[in-house]
Amino acid sequence: MGFSTDIVLPASLSPVWPDVCVRCGVPRPGDHINLSVSKDHPLLPFPLATGRVERAPVCNHCAGPLRFERPARFWLFAAGLTAGLMLGYWLASSGAVPFRRATKWMPIVCGLGGALPGVIYNIFFPIAIEAELKGDTVCYEFARADIAAEFKRLNTGPSSGSGAA
Ligand SMILES: [Zn+2]
Repeated sequence: MGFSTDIVLPASLSPVWPDVCVRCGVPRPGDHINLSVSKDHPLLPFPLATGRVERAPVCNHCAGPLRFERPARFWLFAAGLTAGLMLGYWLASSGAVPFRRATKWMPIVCGLGGALPGVIYNIFFPIAIEAELKGDTVCYEFARADIAAEFKRLNTGPSSGSGAA
């Protein structure tokens, strides 16, 4: 799996979800997760402001991992950042940095370095579904391109009838 597939819809639209699990793709999944449609900042792992909540379909098997995934990734990011900052302060205070001018930047450099694995992991292994409020549009980010395509077809396609078998 690569990067996420993004579908942008007007924020005023209540989207129709495909009748498949957004994580594994199994049909008629029967459960849902509360998907927070929120305003995010690219450098922050948590939302700046929460908009509305939508119900994204998931199967019983995926509901648990999906609810657990976001906090787990946040703590991975926070732990990396904290470890990096601590290492940076230790290096700065121990005098191990050869250049005095570089000393004050050590905590920042090490903190960013520590946070980087979490950021890179999120880019290459996106969460199954996320929704970000951007002005008067909502960007739905799908890990799976096939489910994103079906979601797009249901909400923007010329024949938006519900006759799929
Ligand atoms: Zn599933």
